[in-house]
Amino acid sequence: MKRNTVQKDLIKKIVLASCEHPTAEGVYASAREVLPNISLGTVYRVLHELVEAGDIIEVPVSGRPSRFDKTTGAHAHFVCKKCGEVRDVALNVAGVMAAADAGESVIEDVDIVFEGVCENCNGKHDAIA
Ligand SMILES: [Zn+2]
Ligand SMILES: [Zn+2]
Repeated sequence: MKRNTVQKDLIKKIVLASCEHPTAEGVYASAREVLPNISLGTVYRVLHELVEAGDIIEVPVSGRPSRFDKTTGAHAHFVCKKCGEVRDVALNVAGVMAAADAGESVIEDVDIVFEGVCENCNGKHDAIA
């Protein structure tokens, strides 16, 4: 197998195995455990190739690095403003798209990102009060 293919397969595997919407830096850290010589530039390039191929999606997060997501169907996200954690939100996104009226324009895609504070950051899960 070509070196390029090995890198691409590894990066794809890392994103598909993660439920945490990793950043490129996070993918890079995991990839280096297997391929110590891989570069951050390669990780960025391969991530964007995978996005273009439709294997994964990129989730833009305002003021923070993009996240990469194995769940490619339209779905909504929640971002914690304190720790930056990104999670999926249960929402009928297809229904939202169908209900949106853009006039003569054809809606093909939507990014819905809710912002707030997760339970770890709002103190409800503190072990010691
Ligand atoms: Zn948080
Ligand atoms: Zn997601």
